[in-house]
Amino acid sequence: AAGLPLGVDDKVTLALDDAEAFPKEGNLRGATMRTEMGTYHIRPFGQPCIEGFFGGSFARELEDAGDGAIAAHSIDEIAGFLGNDIRRKLKPLYESRWAHDPFARGSYSHALPGHAGDRAILAAPVDGRLFFAGEATSPSFFTTAHGARDSGERAAREMLAALRNP
Ligand SMILES: Cc1cc2nc3c(=O)[nH]c(=O)nc-3n(C[C@H](O)[C@H](O)[C@H](O)COP(=O)(O)OP(=O)(O)OC[C@H]3O[C@@H](n4cnc5c(N)ncnc54)[C@H](O)[C@@H]3O)c2cc1C
Repeated sequence: AAGLPLGVDDKVTLALDDAEAFPKEGNLRGATMRTEMGTYHIRPFGQPCIEGFFGGSFARELEDAGDGAIAAHSIDEIAGFLGNDIRRKLKPLYESRWAHDPFARGSYSHALPGHAGDRAILAAPVDGRLFFAGEATSPSFFTTAHGARDSGERAAREMLAALRNP
């Protein structure tokens, strides 16, 4: 597990007034030469909102800056792209702070350099009594919901096999 620590990914949702003036399923990103940036999904599923996505050390930095920092940064960055008039159309609805959530303490796993093989070790049952599931144990679909789901099925099969052949 030490070779597969949790990284940080966060999302923010901003309500968007006058949404019909904006394209459905649009994408907005401005910075190409720095990592201190968000990417923005305009009107996902046609909804009147913009969803911002932040990752890595910058997401952690914004989380550390306190509740509301991700939304404030998003509004500033979007205003930088589209002009200050957009500010009055945007209202923060919700932002995640996964690294600060005491029951999560991060978003999903990443393998440290040279530790990709640790996923198989983490997935292995211990003494036929302890069984591990979760995205971090998935050999090919780590970091995903389907990887997590499939790993649960794999662990359940291992448990049933252990019960049949104690
Ligand atoms: C912003 C973001 C965007 C994402 N986008 C996508 C996407 O587009 N597509 C995709 O496939 N995946 C996406 N993912 C990844 C996906 O959500 C995860 O890979 C998946 O939810 C992991 O499931 P899991 O069951 O392994 O772990 P989790 O869902 O993290 O579940 C672990 C559970 O264990 C609990 N827990 C932790 N410690 C303890 C303890 N000591 N005792 C008891 N319980 C404990 C936690 O509270 C939590 O409920 C995204 C994740 C994030 C954060």
